[in-house]
Amino acid sequence: MASASAVPPEAGAATRLRIGVLASQGDFAAHAEMLRALEAEPIEVRTSKQVEDLDGLVIPGGESTTITKAIERDGLEPAIKAHAAAGLPILGTCAGMIVCDRDHLGLVDATAERNAFGRQIASFEVELEVEGLGPDPLRAVFIRAPWIASYGDEVEVLASVDGHPVAVREGQVLLCAFHPELTDDSRMHALLMALATAARERRPERAAGREQRDE
Ligand code: GLN
Repeated sequence: MASASAVPPEAGAATRLRIGVLASQGDFAAHAEMLRALEAEPIEVRTSKQVEDLDGLVIPGGESTTITKAIERDGLEPAIKAHAAAGLPILGTCAGMIVCDRDHLGLVDATAERNAFGRQIASFEVELEVEGLGPDPLRAVFIRAPWIASYGDEVEVLASVDGHPVAVREGQVLLCAFHPELTDDSRMHALLMALATAARERRPERAAGREQRDE
């Protein structure tokens, strides 16, 4: 049984964090469900307008080429980059890790290698200690996963498998090669929400403006 969340999310409808889940392709529904369980308000994102008013964003696993093409097709790149530039957090998982790397959206100074564990190894699970999530290991589900092949000084490695980084953070961008939405351990999502709460506290006028508009 997974342990309780290391970082309890902020509760209460009025302060509910609006966390977008890029819904172009992949397993966005499982992320939305996990965020809802943590009392965030998940928003399935398909247009750039929907990115504008978020506290955080998840870029899910799936197929990185398809997701990258969809981002291009739907003109989402400027909005996602503006979200990151505003210091708002992003969680990229598996294909989402690739989509955020230097060769794609360029949100982190790191390069992800696709299918790095070998195409034959469709899937495996390991108990992984992840920096920042407390001492209990996280059950990490890898599905044709990437790893981080190279990274710059600003990138912090949070977890590795066989010496290869599989969870990293640079500023407000959190990337993992595994699928945290496929277990009942919600600590990666809780961490994203903690970053979103901190970002909101840095910019209280943003949340206040939104509440006024909502009335
Ligand atoms: N292998 C996929 C890719 O390279 C990622 C797999 C996943 O997201 N589960 O896009």
